[in-house]
Amino acid sequence: MSAQQLTYLVTGASRGLGLEFVKQLSAKGHIVIATARDPTKAEALVSLIDYEKVIGVALDTTDQSSVKAAFEKIKTIAPHGIDVLINNSGISGPASETALTATADQYLDVFKTNVVGTSNVTQAALPLLRQKDTRKIINISSIVGSIKLNVHGATMPYYGVSKAGENYLTKALSASLAEEKFIVVAVHPGWVQTDMGGQKAPLKAEESIAGMVEQIEKLTQEKNGAYFDYTGESLPY
Ligand code: NDP
Repeated sequence: MSAQQLTYLVTGASRGLGLEFVKQLSAKGHIVIATARDPTKAEALVSLIDYEKVIGVALDTTDQSSVKAAFEKIKTIAPHGIDVLINNSGISGPASETALTATADQYLDVFKTNVVGTSNVTQAALPLLRQKDTRKIINISSIVGSIKLNVHGATMPYYGVSKAGENYLTKALSASLAEEKFIVVAVHPGWVQTDMGGQKAPLKAEESIAGMVEQIEKLTQEKNGAYFDYTGESLPY
């Protein structure tokens, strides 16, 4: 049991990193509002839902009516507010294209999930985050979003453009919310074995999430707007 019980909201909790966030945060004694497009169909998540520490809520981050309905529910689940929002949901789009062959539809699709979805949920969550003093917003980004590092060279344009966009959103939110003492950060989980990361990834979800949880717990105001990985190592935007 952690010293202080906090209320976390996690998006994309059906599988992968989102699911592991729910496992580890609830194991530490926190309350986790675990959102997923359809929580009833996510078997691993269903087994964690106990309506006390883990509460499942349907939320498609790209669908404004779903976001509105979800937050009506979340307001009743957490009438005293939420401490930490973890914008985890994301898609990568096809990896094979380059910027010379990428299509408009795929750009829009990936951007809508990784940038607009994060914005939708953050805006809807703000009143609940303002009810508490913790005020942390964690955007699960990727090293692929670093324009300076450009780790994939000519490939992964959909994912790279969207994660660079999500990084910009992180900086913009951190500037808009600094006066209200929010801490808004972009975190790279490492390359992790999930449906997105694939089985060749060197990290297991347990290790990535343990690292990110440690970093999230020790965040202070000076870190507002920071971009770092699961070990706490700083990354260049
Ligand atoms: P997965 O593909 O395993 O899981 C993605 C999650 O996002 C699923 O829960 C999925 O839900 C959810 N999701 C996608 N679109 C939406 C939507 N519109 N509304 C709600 N939920 C949605 O990926 P990971 O767990 O690996 O990735 C989690 C985050 O970490 C992502 O932001 C990703 O970009 C980032 N990341 C991952 C890395 C890795 O190596 N794995 C490396 C760097 C960053 P559903 O089950 O309904 O499809």
